[in-house]
Amino acid sequence: MATSIAAKHAKGKFAADAIMAAAARCTEDIEKNGAAAVINGTVGSMMNENGDLVVLQVVKDTFAALTPEQIVAYAPIPGFQEFLDAAIDQCFGASRPDGFIRAIATPGGSGAIHTAVHNYSDPGDEVLTTDWYWGAYRNIARDDNRILREFELLTEDGTFNFQSFEKNVTELVAKQYNTVIILNSPANNPTGYGLSLEEWDRVLDFLKQAVAGKDKNIILVSDVAYLDYSGEKEECRQFFKKFGNLPANIMPIVAYTCSKSFTLYGQRLGAMICVTPEEAIADEFMAINKYTARATWSNANSSAMWTMIEITKDPDKVARLDQERAMYFQMIKERADIFMEEAAACGLKILPYISGFFITIPVTHADKICDILEQEHVYLVPLKKGIRLAVCSVSKQKITGLAAKVKKAIDAA
Ligand code: PLP
Repeated sequence: MATSIAAKHAKGKFAADAIMAAAARCTEDIEKNGAAAVINGTVGSMMNENGDLVVLQVVKDTFAALTPEQIVAYAPIPGFQEFLDAAIDQCFGASRPDGFIRAIATPGGSGAIHTAVHNYSDPGDEVLTTDWYWGAYRNIARDDNRILREFELLTEDGTFNFQSFEKNVTELVAKQYNTVIILNSPANNPTGYGLSLEEWDRVLDFLKQAVAGKDKNIILVSDVAYLDYSGEKEECRQFFKKFGNLPANIMPIVAYTCSKSFTLYGQRLGAMICVTPEEAIADEFMAINKYTARATWSNANSSAMWTMIEITKDPDKVARLDQERAMYFQMIKERADIFMEEAAACGLKILPYISGFFITIPVTHADKICDILEQEHVYLVPLKKGIRLAVCSVSKQKITGLAAKVKKAIDAA
């Protein structure tokens, strides 16, 4: 009897998800021993100090006031124009780059990344990202018959590794027509690293040089999933300005998402936003990505779009939104500060964290260490080269003392 009837390209696809697996073990422990006894550092959504999922109040209020028509009606394939304008505005803030800017609604940042990979690389191509990356990038590449390639994000002294970046880009440009590069900054998942403005300058200067005078293109997918909790509103957006006035064969596509920015995670809404100096390339962006939307999810979630439209057209609501985000940024920062201070005190090495939902502890045998921690009711996510702690979801009270527990488990492993 046949054990597999999947098409050749689909054979062997299996999404072993370390995050979901750790989260499931944690849920079991909570059911047995109660939430107070358990530290759940696996969840990639914001939890307040009581352990409850954060839903921004202005989002809650606006969502509750939507009409049934706003909730159920089909949206146009590329999204409502008011939503697209709002997404561009919310994304770039005061740092809107010069050039032709167009947007298409997507189911979250995932949809934006998927579609960028699908329409700007060819089957068999390698797609470049950092060695510390969100695991779904590999699924997105593999599912589309692309290969995910990693360069080293960090040098020994914890800054952007230009040597590794430049070597990998050079090799890919030499062998492929298009090179898609996914960079998750600021607030990288899982490290919390973010490129400085100087590092962005050097990255972009190198990319210009890499494709100058060549019939080759670079598509820079700027994954900004954690943008709104990465620093002061306008300061953390300054790098976007650098996406203007690039040559036409370098196109940034920003993968924008309402998942964290509006705490609308399961409502599945985001946008892919391009910046290009050529109108024809912007028109092509709309045409090919609209086509792919039609061929996959068709149209994105109306109620989430209307929630965003209703908030962003009202300055009072925008002020509330900004205030709530700033408050939760502070909450995460305080937790991260406690962990980092304690880590320094007990000699626990962590990767350079600047901001964001996660801190990573680099280790060589993450599974074994996480097993030891789980015996103490502490649940973290084992990665290939480290352990991920979700500071977005562990309260200050529970994070206090955690660094020492992790250090002890590492020493015992
Ligand atoms: N990019 C990164 C780095 C993420 O961690 C996530 C979600 O966890 C996303 C993008 C996209 O999430 P969504 O598809 O919910 O917008």
